[in-house]
Amino acid sequence: MTLIADYIGRSARDNVLSAIAKAQDNEQYHALLSLTKERALERADAVDRGDITGKLAGVPFVVKDNFLAFGAPTTAASKMLEHFNAPLQSTAVEKLEAEGAICIGKANLDAFAHGGSTENSAYGPTKNAFDQTRVAGGSSGGSAVVTALDIVPFALGSDTGGSIRLPASFNGVVGVKPTYGTVSRYGVVAMASSTDVIGVFTTNVADAEQVMDIIAGTDPKDMTTLANFFIPKRTIESGKKIGLVKEFMTDDVDPEVRRRTLEYAQRLRDNGHIVEEVTLPIAAHTLAMYYIIVPAEVSSNLARYDGIRYGYRADGVMTLAELYGRTRDEGFVTENKRRIMIGSYVLSSGYFDAYYLQAQKARTLLITEFNTLFKDYDVLLGPVAPMPAFKLGENTSDPIKMYLADIMTVPASLAGLPAMSIPAGANSAGLPIGVQLIGQKRSDADLLALARSLEEM
Ligand code: GLN
Repeated sequence: MTLIADYIGRSARDNVLSAIAKAQDNEQYHALLSLTKERALERADAVDRGDITGKLAGVPFVVKDNFLAFGAPTTAASKMLEHFNAPLQSTAVEKLEAEGAICIGKANLDAFAHGGSTENSAYGPTKNAFDQTRVAGGSSGGSAVVTALDIVPFALGSDTGGSIRLPASFNGVVGVKPTYGTVSRYGVVAMASSTDVIGVFTTNVADAEQVMDIIAGTDPKDMTTLANFFIPKRTIESGKKIGLVKEFMTDDVDPEVRRRTLEYAQRLRDNGHIVEEVTLPIAAHTLAMYYIIVPAEVSSNLARYDGIRYGYRADGVMTLAELYGRTRDEGFVTENKRRIMIGSYVLSSGYFDAYYLQAQKARTLLITEFNTLFKDYDVLLGPVAPMPAFKLGENTSDPIKMYLADIMTVPASLAGLPAMSIPAGANSAGLPIGVQLIGQKRSDADLLALARSLEEM
């Protein structure tokens, strides 16, 4: 595995050309929807001439294709935005470019980030980096796979309910979902505005710290961003109190996933930390909350795709109502439509109180339960998902089964907490398994430092 540092001080043009060659050699994984070769080479030459400098000068990276970026269309893996060329760049990409990093391509995802396997992409699924018959996880499947295949040393993703952590765990890379508001969402196609966050995939924790340090911070263009609090920590004190969440370790969880999580707990103990079992009783209800609140927000965020202002428009002569209907029917994938329907339903008069309001009240209880745990514990530990990567097609006919893969990632999302996926070995078939650390709001730097201290062991 290469590190960010391995790319620094080398010819930027060579870095870009070798990343692109590697991407082309690995086309069978379908991790990338487009390459931004022309623009990448222009920027590389500017780096090599000394016209562009910075902490990441000449380092190639990939962005999930729901980030607005120059050099290729921003499709969000949908037909709706198939030919949409970004008029501006997302703040996260701008900040990386300001440090000399070079985007070489745009990664596949579930259309509009709705999913956990990348099988909902309108352009076909991404394959797992360790087993091409299995899913990459999602929705940022492409970003995880390009990192795992060592095409680039880091990739950006978005995480609304697990979309960074799940594919990171399925592909054996580090995936960081920061505290809500840490990184600007400006210029990223919205999914659910109250849980969407921007984060990063890397092969090691130190690289994640470096990228987070660059992309974090207030953005006047995103009023939900927090004042920058992310300062990487050099050391971590021993004696941290870590709570192993009991509800994440039930018999429904794959035994090898449980075993790897317990091994990680033991490594924490060996490193001078205290690990105790804790309980988050409301965890059993978080999936229900999530699949009410998120579709509600999705249905309102996707209302803008009307075929009039931008994006796909159905062809032919028809009434306005038909135009809306056909555009949306043809531009969205089934999962997008399912969420629009559920979201409109739970927000409709008569059902709003019974579903949406109830889910928001339960969300407040979840936040309270987390806060109670964080009075006594610094960090919570559990698996990322109940299982390693499943087979392509295994869950596509049963949305509930697909949603169950999110059961351990949605709690941190609904509470806005920082969480990360850390590679913790593999099962007997060689499929990677990730463990999840969850921290208190704004404790991102501590969480990463803790993970790094174990990685260095
Ligand atoms: N798998 C989850 C979902 O389908 C998470 C998606 C995401 O984080 N973008 O909603």
